[in-house]
Amino acid sequence: MKIAFIGLGNMGAPMAINLSAAGHELMVFDLVEDALATLEQQGATRATCAAQAAENADVIVSMLPAGAHVRGLYLGDGNQPGLLETLSHKPLIIDASTISPEDARTVGAAASERGLSYLDAPVSGGIGGAKAGTLSFIVGGDAAAFEQARPVLEVMGKNIFHAGENGAGQVAKICNNMLLGILMSGTAEALALGVNNGMDPAVLSEIMKQSSGGNWALNVYNPWPGVMEDSAASRDYQGGFLTDLMAKDLGLAWELALDSKSAIPMGSEARNLFALHSAQGAGKLDFSSIQRLYRATQASE
Ligand code: NAD
Repeated sequence: MKIAFIGLGNMGAPMAINLSAAGHELMVFDLVEDALATLEQQGATRATCAAQAAENADVIVSMLPAGAHVRGLYLGDGNQPGLLETLSHKPLIIDASTISPEDARTVGAAASERGLSYLDAPVSGGIGGAKAGTLSFIVGGDAAAFEQARPVLEVMGKNIFHAGENGAGQVAKICNNMLLGILMSGTAEALALGVNNGMDPAVLSEIMKQSSGGNWALNVYNPWPGVMEDSAASRDYQGGFLTDLMAKDLGLAWELALDSKSAIPMGSEARNLFALHSAQGAGKLDFSSIQRLYRATQASE
């Protein structure tokens, strides 16, 4: 298939590499020169703009930071027209970015008005999952478009879920990440409490993993440095899923809660913790560095 891939960052680059390795013909675009050069080395063709990448594509995949970028790409941003306006054929559109359900519905409705199929398909699984091709895709959009997208998604992911209509993929993804933010901050809090009371963090982790406190953040993404050899914590929180992106996702949960009059006391607390952590300079560190917020309390005693 001819695939246009737009947004070659931490997640997009390895996803695009997997599509290229599977034999698809890729035309790629990003604003960053290095990202384009990396993909070119992997056999993709670089485009000079998103419209050129999409020109002859059967499928367009985008992986951009936030809703403003996705709206700008598809609907235009005042300076240039959006892709929906410039397309002269009808490729399937798959946006894998994490954005608000409202933005996804807006772009989906605009695509539908032009006879185009649009899927919101945010992912779970992080950079490791993107590289290994084992992401979970949580898809919103109509069932026929979902089935059409499946073979492409299966190259990049292991679990492919159909959550419902446009926007539902984002709702499910935001609920998942709110829970992850709560679990990670709770895990960091419990580890700090134990260490402050003389426990070895590795021993405490093993005990909680085998007990009722076991959870994904503790079991596979331990935030305490040195407990897990290959965790972000053990490489000074470099790479991984950035604090700023977790803060963004918790902000999306907050908006969703306001819109639906839902109470999210734990999610709000997690949002404040990650926003504070980001404001203290940790925005570009992996989100498990929230551990430092708790260790700092201990150090200042
Ligand atoms: P990133 O910042 O590393 O990459 C985004 C890329 O988009 C950058 O290379 C940027 O230059 C490019 N870009 C921005 N605007 C563009 C435009 N108009 N045209 C072309 N390229 C443009 O972000 P990421 O970590 O790859 O995350 C992408 C999305 O995936 C986000 O919505 C994030 O919330 C979500 N996500 C990330 C992770 C993770 O672990 N990093 C996990 C799950 C979901």
